[in-house]
Amino acid sequence: MSILEAAIGWVAPPQCVACGKEGFALCVACSTSEIIAYGQQCWLCNRASPRGRTCPKCRGGGPPRFVWITTNYEGAAKELVKIYKFGHQRAAAAALSRLMVETLHDFDTSAELIRLNYLIVPVPTATSRIRQRSFDHSALLARAIGRQLGAENANGLGRRGQSRQLGAKRPDRLSQPEGNYFVRLPQIIKDQNILVIDDVVTTGATLKTVTKVLRAAGAKRVDALVFAKRL
Ligand SMILES: [Zn+2]
Ligand SMILES: [Zn+2]
Repeated sequence: MSILEAAIGWVAPPQCVACGKEGFALCVACSTSEIIAYGQQCWLCNRASPRGRTCPKCRGGGPPRFVWITTNYEGAAKELVKIYKFGHQRAAAAALSRLMVETLHDFDTSAELIRLNYLIVPVPTATSRIRQRSFDHSALLARAIGRQLGAENANGLGRRGQSRQLGAKRPDRLSQPEGNYFVRLPQIIKDQNILVIDDVVTTGATLKTVTKVLRAAGAKRVDALVFAKRL
């Protein structure tokens, strides 16, 4: 991306990905008509599951207890993620975070959220991708969600990107996916309830991995809030 493209992404008024109306990356009307709630399903197998709890069949490998998903990765939801991650449209963070917070409130009462007092932690973006996009889309989304919830957020996880620092040869890296994520700030993770933020979930391998490293660092409980599930 050129500096010019980055500047355009920064200043151009957003347009609704569904109807083209100016002002929002997804307008309020289209948020209602175009975004179909994922609902009370297990995030891994899509079976009905009360409050979106990880179902008993899918609990192997240490997934988060709850993974709340806004919608399927299709239609307007897919367009929104694409303009955010690949079109450099920071403004899409407002629409994504608003929809994700609504999802959380669908599943959790305000009293429960206060009791849990989540620390909001984004799944980190590889540093090479931050350079391509000029901003860290995960961190930006987590900050917007934290603000709306009145919750603390922290870039508590790190990711060893496709860089020299890891030292291992490529096949070793691929055989140890959990080695790609680590806790950067163990002192703030310990004894906390963590709400992990990610934009799209596919196989669930990443969420399982980060949950494992967060638990190893002493996290009390790990749940996740994700915008879209790839079918
Ligand atoms: Zn619209
Ligand atoms: Zn399941």
